[in-house]
Amino acid sequence: MTHDKTTLMDLQGNHVLGTYSPDLLLVRGEGAYVWDADGKRYLDFAAGISVCNLGHCHPRVTAAICAQAGKLVHVSNLHYNENQPRLAALIAEASFGGRVFFANSGAEANEGLIKFARRWGNPAGRFEIICMEDSFHGRTLATLAATGRSKYRQGFAPDVEGFTFAKFNDLESVRAKIGPQTVAVLCEPVQGEGGIIPATPEFMTGLRQLCDERNLLLLLDEVQCGMGRTGRMFAHQHYGIVPDGMSLAKALGNGFPIGAFEVQAKYKDVLPPGSHASTFGGTPLACAAGIAVFEAFAEEGILDHVRTVGAHLRAGLEALCAKHPAAKAVRGAGLMLGLVVETDLKPVLARAKAAGLLALTAGENVLRLLPPLTISIEQADQALTILDQALAEGPIPA
Ligand SMILES: *Cc1c(COP(=O)(O)O)cnc(C)c1O
Repeated sequence: MTHDKTTLMDLQGNHVLGTYSPDLLLVRGEGAYVWDADGKRYLDFAAGISVCNLGHCHPRVTAAICAQAGKLVHVSNLHYNENQPRLAALIAEASFGGRVFFANSGAEANEGLIKFARRWGNPAGRFEIICMEDSFHGRTLATLAATGRSKYRQGFAPDVEGFTFAKFNDLESVRAKIGPQTVAVLCEPVQGEGGIIPATPEFMTGLRQLCDERNLLLLLDEVQCGMGRTGRMFAHQHYGIVPDGMSLAKALGNGFPIGAFEVQAKYKDVLPPGSHASTFGGTPLACAAGIAVFEAFAEEGILDHVRTVGAHLRAGLEALCAKHPAAKAVRGAGLMLGLVVETDLKPVLARAKAAGLLALTAGENVLRLLPPLTISIEQADQALTILDQALAEGPIPA
C-alpha cells in the first residue's frame, strides 16, 4: 500500500516525536541525485549530512548489503563473523594500524572513546577531557557534555561531569585547561556543525606535541570529516600526526548505520573483555557495507577525485564571493566546504531547493556543502549556477 504525502505527513505528525522539521518527501536516490514523491530531482549536496559519500545507492554497497542480508544479518559478539575482522583490518590499514571497536552511530563511537580515555586515566585519578568551543560530538548525555555548542545542551541539565572547554585553534587556551585530572583532548580536525572550520596545522601538530609532553590522549572525532571527505581518508592525515584514538561513523557504511572507534595498538589492553559492548556493533550486515565502501574507495580512485573536484568547487565558490557582496569567504577542505555569508541563509537555501539543489547550514552563517564525493565537475558547476542565482535577491519560494 502506498500513501500520499499528505497522509504520511499526518502519520508523522501524529506518531513521530517532533524533534525534526522535515520538508521534502524523498523516495529514491541514485548517485548525486534524489527524487521527491512528485518526481522532482535534486542535486544532493548534503548527502544525508556526509553519510552517502559514495552517492546514493552505490551499486557495490547495495549489492553487498543485499547479498549479506540473504546470508546472515546478525550474530552477537559472542561469536566471530566473517566481516567484522575484515572491516577492522581495512580501517586499521587505512589509518594507524590500531584496534577497532564497532558501534552504530557517531555519538556511540564518541562515547566509546570517552570511556576508553576514562578507563586509561582512572587508575591515576584522571578523567577530565578538554573539548573545544563550537564542537559537536553527538546527542547522548556524555557526548552532549563534550559538545561546545551550548544550545544543544539547553534544558538537559545536569551535564555529565568531566568535560571542560578550550578555544579551537588556540593551543595556549588548551594548555591553560590542563589540570591534574586531565586525561585527554578531544577535537574535530575540521569542525563540521560549528561552521566548517579546519584546524590550523600549528594547532594540530601543537596538540600532538602537548599531549605527548603532558601524557594526555589525543582523541579526534572524524565522524563528519573522515572517510575521504577532505581528500584524505581521514582528515588528520593532512597534518602528518597520529591520534591516540579516533571515532568514525556517518559515511563508514555509506548510509547503512555503523560507527567505530580505533585506538593505537599500544592501548589494546585498556578495554578488556566485558568492559564495553554494543549489541548491534559490528554485525555481518553493517560490516559488509563498510567493506564495500573501502573497496569502492580503492577501485574508483575516490580520493584523487575529491581533490580535483573539490578544488574546482572551491574556486567556483570563491568566484561567488567576488561577485556577491553577501558571500564573504570559503572554508574547508576537499568536498567539505563552507561559504561564509552575511545574509539570512534561509531564503538562499529555499531558492536553491526550488532550483533543485539541497544544501546545509553550519554554525551561525555558513552555507555548508557536503556533496557525494563522486560528483562530476558538471554537477559541481550545476550547483554553482544554482547558488549564484540563489544568492541574488529574489522571491522566496514557499
Ligand atoms: C554527526 C556527528 C556526530 C554524531 O553522530 P550521530 O551518528 O548522529 O550520533 C558526532 N561528531 C561529529 C563531528 C558529527 O558530525
